[in-house]
Amino acid sequence: MADQYTFDDDGDMTIFKSAWQRVLESLKGKVPKTVFERFLAPLVAHHFEDDVAEVVCPGRFVYEWTLDKYHSVLQESLAKELGRPIKLNLLVEAREKPLVASVGRTAISTAPTISDRPTFKPNPAYTFENFVVGRSNQLACAGARAVLESIGTRYNPLFIYGHPGLGKTHLLHAIANRILEDDPHFPIRYITAQQFMEDFVNALQSKRVDQFRRIQRSAQVWLIDDVQMILGKDRTQEEVFHTFNHLYSSGRQIVICSDRTPRDLLPMDERLRSRFESGLVADIQSPDTETRCAILRSKAKQEGFDLQMDIAMFLAENVPGSVRHLEGALTKLAAVASIESKEISLEMATSMVDDHFRDMVRAKPTFKQILEAVSKRTQIEVKDITSESRKGPVTNARHIAIYMTREITNDSWKHIGTLFGNRDHTSMMHGYKKVRNLINLDREFNALVRSIMDDVYPDH
Ligand code: ADP
Ligand code: MG
Repeated sequence: MADQYTFDDDGDMTIFKSAWQRVLESLKGKVPKTVFERFLAPLVAHHFEDDVAEVVCPGRFVYEWTLDKYHSVLQESLAKELGRPIKLNLLVEAREKPLVASVGRTAISTAPTISDRPTFKPNPAYTFENFVVGRSNQLACAGARAVLESIGTRYNPLFIYGHPGLGKTHLLHAIANRILEDDPHFPIRYITAQQFMEDFVNALQSKRVDQFRRIQRSAQVWLIDDVQMILGKDRTQEEVFHTFNHLYSSGRQIVICSDRTPRDLLPMDERLRSRFESGLVADIQSPDTETRCAILRSKAKQEGFDLQMDIAMFLAENVPGSVRHLEGALTKLAAVASIESKEISLEMATSMVDDHFRDMVRAKPTFKQILEAVSKRTQIEVKDITSESRKGPVTNARHIAIYMTREITNDSWKHIGTLFGNRDHTSMMHGYKKVRNLINLDREFNALVRSIMDDVYPDH
């Protein structure tokens, strides 16, 4: 796989490189000079294959900023230059540790496409050393460390759950980093459930299921991330179940991450859920202010600057949301400081929080608001949605409302059943599953659900 990272002379790569140069040239006059020099000029054309262009950013700040502000512009301009639609993936350069010694520039990906290729390269920044431990995550972190001490025996499987952006993926990579440090060839397989599903479907289509299984089952340590992504995907679940059994019965270590508990992974097959529960189940909660503050200072240090205590504390208290949001705030602050060529100050932090995060302090919508949003787009009256009616369009709207309620509130099925006119919890699960399946099958339906979600709970 190492040759994926080489700049060989193949035609595509040459065309890509010169197209990329032209894209940068064309933006030169259009964006402020400092922005161009700091954020765009350093982006390097890295790899091109199957209409996916990979471009390397020289650090996390540049990556976050470019992704946020310029990704779509860059992708469109590049597509125009190449004369066809393409996907642009931004990668972060691995500065800490070269990943492929023979190549000048190497890259690690925050996008799933690279990290899930068979030779998995964990993000070198996601180590145990860089993981700040507090009350909110200490069990999960201890579990992950314990895995290293007794691979496949003590906590098997280890199941980590928690809301997005709280460090689950970080811990999975930390396990991989530590193991690969000792033995770079150790058979670790990291895969997101989404990627598992895509690979599996591809394998089915190209009649290469055996090969797919061989790859998954060759793992000594199997790290599966975001397992909730396969809810409602029956065949994939079945395959995960068999993979799990195979690995487990041959004493391999399994670590699973999810945004909810095994019990709440409904409507997943009970057999799979109880397998997930059979080892250590550890949660990650939102960190308290002190931990948030420590995380910020540690991130700043990794990026090579010192974040004063008062500013860190201010951000920890005023930036809402997950650790990922905190990081975003720090990135923005550093970018502002760099563009304005000033030191980071409390004033700067205050106005940045006002500019970017005021809108985010948005409470979760209430059940009533969800029903109203569904009603608006489906033209079914609110009172009908929770009524006994079994008419097709009404049932359909009801199912969408059930789906949205569950996604937004994460309430128990039983409680959701009560909200929908004291219905049985199994009918709630059924409605949810139906919508979930349809979202994947039917583009129009998918767009409908998306637009309701955008109405009632933007940015989620
Ligand atoms: P999840 O997988 O739970 O959605 P990630 O592992 O992707 O979350 O974490 C989001 C970001 O927050 C990552 O950049 C990660 O390094 C950072 N992060 C989360 N928790 C911590 C922590 N305790 N210490 C340091 N960084 C953290
Ligand atoms: Mg994750």
